[in-house]
Amino acid sequence: MRNLFLPVTILLLFYACSNQQNNEYLISPVPFTEVNVEDNFWSERIKTNHKVTIPIAIQKSDETGRIDNFAIAGGLMEGEFCSPYPFDDSDVFKIIEGAAYSLQMFPDENLENTIDSLINLIEKAQEEDGYLFTNRTIMGENGHDWIGKERWEKVDDLSHELYNLGHFYEAATAYYRATGKRKILDIAIKSADLVDTEFGPGKIENFPGHQEIEIGLVKLYRVTGEKRYLDLAKFFLDIRGKGIGEKTTYNQSHLPVVEQTEAVGHSVRGAYMWTGMADVAALTGDQQYVDAITKIWEDVVYKKLYITGGIGAEGGHEGFGGAYELPNGRAYCETCAAIANCFWNHRMFLMTGDAKYIDVLERSLYNNVLSGVSLSGDHFFYPNPLESMGSHERSEWFGCACCPSNISRFIPSMSNYIYARRGNDFYVNLFVPGSTSFETEKGNLKLTQKSNMPWNGNVTITVEPDETTTANLLIRIPGWASENPVPGDLYSFVNQPSSSMVFKVNGEIISPAIQKGYAVVSKKWIGEDKVEISFPYEIRKIEAHPNVEDDRGKMALQLGPLVYCAEWPDYKDPEIMSLILKKDAKLTYEFQPEKLGGIHEISGEAFGAKKINKKGDIETYPRAFKAIPYYAWAHRGKGRMKVWIPTSAESAQPKALPTIASESEVKASLKTNTLQGINDQLLPENSADKTHTLYHWWPAKNETHWIIYNFKKQETVSECGIYWFKDTPQGGCDLPESWKLYYKSGNQWKEVNAETPYPVIENKMNRIAFTPATTSAMKLEIQLSENYSAGIHEWIVN
Ligand SMILES: [Zn+2]
Repeated sequence: MRNLFLPVTILLLFYACSNQQNNEYLISPVPFTEVNVEDNFWSERIKTNHKVTIPIAIQKSDETGRIDNFAIAGGLMEGEFCSPYPFDDSDVFKIIEGAAYSLQMFPDENLENTIDSLINLIEKAQEEDGYLFTNRTIMGENGHDWIGKERWEKVDDLSHELYNLGHFYEAATAYYRATGKRKILDIAIKSADLVDTEFGPGKIENFPGHQEIEIGLVKLYRVTGEKRYLDLAKFFLDIRGKGIGEKTTYNQSHLPVVEQTEAVGHSVRGAYMWTGMADVAALTGDQQYVDAITKIWEDVVYKKLYITGGIGAEGGHEGFGGAYELPNGRAYCETCAAIANCFWNHRMFLMTGDAKYIDVLERSLYNNVLSGVSLSGDHFFYPNPLESMGSHERSEWFGCACCPSNISRFIPSMSNYIYARRGNDFYVNLFVPGSTSFETEKGNLKLTQKSNMPWNGNVTITVEPDETTTANLLIRIPGWASENPVPGDLYSFVNQPSSSMVFKVNGEIISPAIQKGYAVVSKKWIGEDKVEISFPYEIRKIEAHPNVEDDRGKMALQLGPLVYCAEWPDYKDPEIMSLILKKDAKLTYEFQPEKLGGIHEISGEAFGAKKINKKGDIETYPRAFKAIPYYAWAHRGKGRMKVWIPTSAESAQPKALPTIASESEVKASLKTNTLQGINDQLLPENSADKTHTLYHWWPAKNETHWIIYNFKKQETVSECGIYWFKDTPQGGCDLPESWKLYYKSGNQWKEVNAETPYPVIENKMNRIAFTPATTSAMKLEIQLSENYSAGIHEWIVN
């Protein structure tokens, strides 16, 4: 019975689904299941995601208790909620979604069995009436501080009860579509029915503190045809800014959604909300939604978008700053936010057929999103800054693990964004070699893309219909090959390309009509027709709007869709903050197959700036210039990186005069690659400031440690200064118990004859004067306190 029942149900569901197609996006995406990617760039990443990222994400979820939470909630294990946050369930859901996509490309019995057993645990963890939220199920009234004593009590705040479910519905629909297995879909339906019973007009009239369920409910509606889920998604949007909860810009509840015109608050929350609004607008025809998200989009793209496609300037609230507030070193640019930005821009395109949205999507995808995961697929960035003094490196995992689990589901679905269709208009949005096939009235029409993107601007598209078909091929003209990097005036090109775009059909040059950023090739396709496009593939120099303070007098580089950066290992002197790249600098690129997985490296002539005397006079001197794609940074150890390069000495950070400390060889009881931070002549704003590289002994405590400066030559010294690092109470480093200084005398270390006790004070240089000593080395001895570790920003010697 069961076997018979299943296909019928699927048929009914698809029938329900196809009936809903009248109210849908103007343009239909071509799902990744119908797209083959056959290239040297994305294929590798999609494979690595399957082989490495998904298994690691499952393993980490297991090690961190995220999976046990379901077993405990389901009564299969004893214990308390055993991971840090109430939203940890959502990581497991995102991994299931990613596995669903990946299994379609790489059938994998082991992975499918693992996912099935996770689904069994989720089924057990679901309460009788459909409630699914392991923290409360396990802990009852003693749950996490964020969740309230009663169900949904803090739903508008930080409980994440509805947020988790949004990710679950996305996972359930994806896995059901991928495998036809109903169990996960039934769990989702049971859960959504409970939410629908409890929330709505006349019921609980409140909004989710973290948007996401809106997207999930729309997906559930599309699969089941159950309109209540769509109505519920719309309810959660419309109640925002009106419900009983506290209204804040942080979660975009400060105003009703249709009255919002600016991007404010937490960027992932915002971009998920605008994505959900686009979905609901497409299905309901709500023009007010469209107007609001169009205005917000303009605010983001004209004033708040990083050149890497990142959004969210501020770490404090993980979100948007003011207009033109785009700091590079402390840029937040969360990986999740860049992914959400892709979701949102894709929907904006589907709604309008305008290529400008794909320009933003492509920028986020190739730069900020890709930077979020290492080439090996096993290390991740949460924030993706555009400048580093050497304190950044990708992590294996995070306490708050939203970014790696988001990567695991996004990479295998990236081919969703390559093609789209409206009737007989076939859109080519991204230039990713491979193929797809469209159904037409006269059989299939196959499109094959050949190119060496992103390493070359020539694309050949072969069009093969089963029978002669009249159709329009709409080929996106990317911003990087035309006049504007992105819409608006936030960024502009310094140089125009020397060649122009060429379109050929079957070898003959044509001048296609241009429509909303697409070249329209209209033709009766006979069979094996070839469309060839040469995009100007040249190094483009980019300037930012003068209101962007941190980019003033600087220039960024782009080649094809890739934004570039200068990184320390490519320089003889790793001090690259003092680089100057003149606007008219001659730059070339060359493919380096062995470097960073194979990249185009940019080379040219630059200058360095350095201080030449204590007055601060600056001298410039020639230096070789190198740059690599931004996504490939931070694979060769910690050190300096810079996307925006000063174009003159005025905007450069000149190298300071050498000091005894900066010229010293440094040794330490604990050797790490951040040791370079203690004599880099960069002082923090306060002890907690993490802008520059700092050195610490964490997690060691209650131990004695040492650092030695071996001077370049014999010096007479009489003063030292230490700037202590301190990040308590969040972190584990506090001021040390005590410290002492020694100088080398023959083969002996002798303590200096200090004039005062050794100071231990935060937020300032702890200077100590001593009787002059002539020596070749100094040693700093630090006693860590009983309960905390310690760290140092800078150690100076005079
Ligand atoms: Zn994240």
